[in-house]
Amino acid sequence: MLCASLCHTDVLCCKGFPVPLFPRVLGHEGVGMVESIGEGVTEVKEGDVVIPTYLGECRECENCRSGRTNMCQTYPLAAFSGLLPDGTSRMSIRGQKLYHFLSCSTWSEYTVVDANYVVKIDSRIPLPHASFISCGFATGFGAAWKEAKLHKGSTVAVLGLGAVGLGVVEGARLHGAATIIGIDINEKRRDKGKAFGMTDFINPKDSEKPISEMVKELTQGKGVDYCFECSGVAKLVNEVLESTKVGIGTAILLGAGTQKSIEIDFIPLLSARTLKYSVFGGIKIQSDLPIIVDKCINKEIKKLDELLTNEVQVEDIDKAFELLKKPETLKVVIKF
Ligand SMILES: [Zn+2]
Ligand SMILES: [Zn+2]
Repeated sequence: MLCASLCHTDVLCCKGFPVPLFPRVLGHEGVGMVESIGEGVTEVKEGDVVIPTYLGECRECENCRSGRTNMCQTYPLAAFSGLLPDGTSRMSIRGQKLYHFLSCSTWSEYTVVDANYVVKIDSRIPLPHASFISCGFATGFGAAWKEAKLHKGSTVAVLGLGAVGLGVVEGARLHGAATIIGIDINEKRRDKGKAFGMTDFINPKDSEKPISEMVKELTQGKGVDYCFECSGVAKLVNEVLESTKVGIGTAILLGAGTQKSIEIDFIPLLSARTLKYSVFGGIKIQSDLPIIVDKCINKEIKKLDELLTNEVQVEDIDKAFELLKKPETLKVVIKF
């Protein structure tokens, strides 16, 4: 590994969600260089700069060919078994087996990954940027680009302005959204949102009103075309739905929360709104991720440095968890 970063899913996993498997090598954001390849591997070679991911793309299965989803049937979302797709663990410490995480396990000097779950990238991209787009930021960016397929003049609301939410803001800006409303209880995210192109900011703590009402006040009472849930707070799903336009509004959920079920109000759905969950923002790892890398290199995506607030050495990983609790922290980069 050359560089990695923390994503909130790592924090949830530390707490044993969704399956408590320990001891374990966490981390699913990062970028590395191929040190060696196994028998039969033709996709990458020694010295390639690659991003390990938790999805594959065969380009041949029904889903890959459909053009409607990034959920490949041949190489599905990495299982929560804590093992590689072949059912093995390739890591151990003093003879004891270690569990992997999402088939990536990026918080380690060396990791073993399935060749079908890595993508070779252009090595000119700054390493922290490559790490940010390996999950969080690309999830948000992809949700605006691939899931919503935003058109010029769209109206958008984004709940939660972490790396995922700011990725949505950037994606919305690049695709010509007219209104981009950022929503966060952390006041420090106001300036970050603006840096990425947010047009309006709502701090729900400033008012007694429900979030959806404040969104409607900014959109002539109609709500937005797309509302993105990036906070992982399950109970907000109904506010997200209610914030969208009747009939044509779409709510897209991106956050991972700890609750196993959520209660959805029927009334806002009854107005023919759409509710959708997106994994990795609909990004296909072989077809789409290199396009995002190019956009980072040619500065179409230009504010990624705004995400980087802290750096720690891998041996100080505990500090990163402490840093993540502070309101000013956005992304903690792990160095090797
Ligand atoms: Zn993540
Ligand atoms: Zn496929």
